Amino acid sequence: MPLSPDQQAEITEARKDTQPTLRATAPGMEKHLYTAHPVLDHGFVRVVDYMGDDAAITQAARVSYGRGTKAVSNDEGLIRYLMRHWHSTPFEMCEIKLHVKLPVFVARQWIRHRTANVNEYSARYSILDREFYIPARDSLAAQSATNNQGRGEALEGAEAQRVLDWLREDSNRAYDHYEAMISTAGQQGLARELARMNLPASIYTQWYWKTDLHNLLHFLRLRADSHAQYEIRVYAEAIAAITADWVPFAYKAHQDYRMGGATLSAGALDCVRRMLKGEEVTQENSGMSKGEWREFQGVLGERK
Ligand SMILES: Cc1cc2nc3c(=O)[nH]c(=O)nc-3n(C[C@H](O)[C@H](O)[C@H](O)COP(=O)(O)OP(=O)(O)OC[C@H]3O[C@@H](n4cnc5c(N)ncnc54)[C@H](O)[C@@H]3O)c2cc1C
Repeated sequence: MPLSPDQQAEITEARKDTQPTLRATAPGMEKHLYTAHPVLDHGFVRVVDYMGDDAAITQAARVSYGRGTKAVSNDEGLIRYLMRHWHSTPFEMCEIKLHVKLPVFVARQWIRHRTANVNEYSARYSILDREFYIPARDSLAAQSATNNQGRGEALEGAEAQRVLDWLREDSNRAYDHYEAMISTAGQQGLARELARMNLPASIYTQWYWKTDLHNLLHFLRLRADSHAQYEIRVYAEAIAAITADWVPFAYKAHQDYRMGGATLSAGALDCVRRMLKGEEVTQENSGMSKGEWREFQGVLGERK
């Protein structure tokens, strides 16, 4: 179950308590407040709180640009200008606080994003639930033959079934032993902080994660990207959908300049100029390594 009955009751209670406010609110975001969006088999993402909207970005930017910025006077144009020119601080004026339930191995990747504030469920104080991530059958992929960090085709038939059986059996056996170790029935009972070390990385944890929009967009660029592992990518995609409703102009600019755009080195740009003049440019005469050239071709190939 994504949300426990206690959490659900707490949310229902919080929803009853609405207050008029002078603060700016983002209508697209209000509908996400307290709503848990399911991710993976037991996980979720929900917005606990937020600050700011598209207008907060331009409001902050205009402090520095003042009235003189006629060329970028409308909000969307200004946001696109800021994004295009890597002005980060106006985007830091918006904040988001999320409650996330996620497998521990996903949390290990996520926590590498150091520019957020995190408070995690304590398995020293509390007893973890018997909830493990078991991939859907079509997500049970083989090791990629070409990419050490990637996946190949989905496992099939008996192999897929065997893997699923082992994942379920191993996690349940580990949890049975966890419960048996912390039990105080007829024994002292091992401390929770020690007993948890036997649990697999597929067990779910929860945290509050607060960050600003600039760093959130950076997180999305890395984790909603096709190179990110599927299990963190689905969280990033859920957050991306929320962000699109929250700050539509900033999200669109980010999609355009960062997610869908590409950065070219001076050498690559020179190759483009030579190509436009009709010169035949190859890897050998490009000055690029094979890897760089492959990526460069990928960028040009995806051009619409
Ligand atoms: C596809 C993929 C594969 C990866 N593979 C690996 C791997 O194999 N092994 C591994 O260890 N990690 C791996 N990572 C993690 C990656 O190297 C980063 O640690 C992670 O993505 C966080 O990025 P970040 O540091 O930019 O983010 P944040 O920590 O949120 O930082 C945001 C930005 O703030 C600045 N910043 C933050 N802290 C500092 C600081 N202390 N000093 C200077 N600048 C700072 C940097 O500009 C940084 O880009 C992988 C990430 C991805 C997306």
